[in-house]
Amino acid sequence: MTSTLNGMNDEFPETAAYWQNLNQGRLTVPHCERCDRYFFPPAPGCPSCGSPDHLSQREVNGRGVVYSWIVAYFPFDRNFIPEVPFVIAEVQLDEGPRLYTRLLDVDVTADFANVGVIVGIRDRDGLPHLISELVAP
Ligand SMILES: [Zn+2]
Repeated sequence: MTSTLNGMNDEFPETAAYWQNLNQGRLTVPHCERCDRYFFPPAPGCPSCGSPDHLSQREVNGRGVVYSWIVAYFPFDRNFIPEVPFVIAEVQLDEGPRLYTRLLDVDVTADFANVGVIVGIRDRDGLPHLISELVAP
């Protein structure tokens, strides 16, 4: 596997367009034109109908709700040590797919079930990271 600093790697070419868009500040998710469904993560074929030929990346506005979350007390990377504890949320986008983000500026003891969030992109040491912020109900 050949990884690059922008998240792309040669082993999973189906993720290239997603990473390219993310590096340009655009949040996109795969969409199947054949069955009109969104999915995530990028895959070589549509998980709903199996089509490998009718896939595109569509930009989304990042709005969604927290589907699940955990509080990280032990960081997966030493660069995050000063920031623990923090919340990693599984966000269900309005379009349907779920993705993982870091939920910013929250009380880690709160209940986030179905709380509205907006997913954004933040640069961290030159890499795009997905973050979420709470939105007013
Ligand atoms: Zn499909």
